[in-house]
Amino acid sequence: MISPDIASAVDHLKRGFTVVFPTETVYGLGADAMNPKGVERVFALKGRPRDRPLIVHIEGLSRLEEWAEEIPEGARRLAERFWPGPLTLVLSCRREIPRLVTGGRDTVAVRVPDHPVATALLRAFGGGLAAPSANRFGRLSPTASWHVREFFGDEAGPILEGGPCSTGVESTIVGFSGDRPTLLRPGTVSARMIEEFLGLRILRAGAEEEGAPLPGSGESHYAPCTPLELLPAEALRSRLLSLTSRGDRVGVLALSEWGDLCGQREVTLLPMSRKAPEYARELYAALHALDRGGLGRILVEAPPDGEAWGAVNDRLKRASHHPGGR
Ligand code: AMP
Ligand code: MG
Repeated sequence: MISPDIASAVDHLKRGFTVVFPTETVYGLGADAMNPKGVERVFALKGRPRDRPLIVHIEGLSRLEEWAEEIPEGARRLAERFWPGPLTLVLSCRREIPRLVTGGRDTVAVRVPDHPVATALLRAFGGGLAAPSANRFGRLSPTASWHVREFFGDEAGPILEGGPCSTGVESTIVGFSGDRPTLLRPGTVSARMIEEFLGLRILRAGAEEEGAPLPGSGESHYAPCTPLELLPAEALRSRLLSLTSRGDRVGVLALSEWGDLCGQREVTLLPMSRKAPEYARELYAALHALDRGGLGRILVEAPPDGEAWGAVNDRLKRASHHPGGR
């Protein structure tokens, strides 16, 4: 039985329009990946440069051959182990896939999302959905439906409700050239988990995109509108004092005990989890909340280094770049 919401979303997709659907990572802005008109709408709505390829979401591993020309043994094993889940594989692309989806490349990024609403939509639709995050390019990713409504109102088509996202940061991306895997973007499926499973070391790319120019040092991505600074605890304390002493209102994502600051009128303090998966789940919702608070600055207490924190640290670094500054 297909619910009326899903049936209406499928109708939109078949007519070349976009829909918003929940996944375990973030909410996606989806279009029929085989329909250039729909995919074009995704780029236009997001204001996304055409050379930034989109991830194709499919219902299950059995559909992968419809997108990938070749599936290296390592890629197949990763898909069997981690799908459905927050892992995207970049593989050689079948000829008939519109190159608008792949940013002109001969590789395509594919994943199977782990969310009952996404699965129901993909099953009823029957094809692949090209779906980047349902936000404006470069801004905070949406992990709740109200984040999407704030960005787009009704402009992006129907928004399927799926509650808060359980993973909360974008998928890990692994590319294959031959059988050699490369980590293109860290996520909650860590490089170490992949290495332990495959029994080999994987390369770590310096950039998010294979074959694309390295993101410039000033590139801002996954960022709130409020300027954000990432600082170790001691440096954060002195920065906070200097900002509040000149009357600035400041939001803080805190890991340590900051009891003495809680009472300060200028300070909005959000205590974050010291466990990486929970921190990742809460990260964008916390930043969305601070971003609408009319604050002058967001200070983030730097999380620990180490693999488990790889995805969180990567997103925080990108969020802290403010070209032009303020
Ligand atoms: P998102 O921005 O979360 O929609 O994820 C899309 C990202 O996936 C892109 O910005 C690239 O980093 C990566 N990606 C997608 N397709 C490819 C591809 N064909 N080759 C390399 N990276 C890709
Ligand atoms: Mg995105």
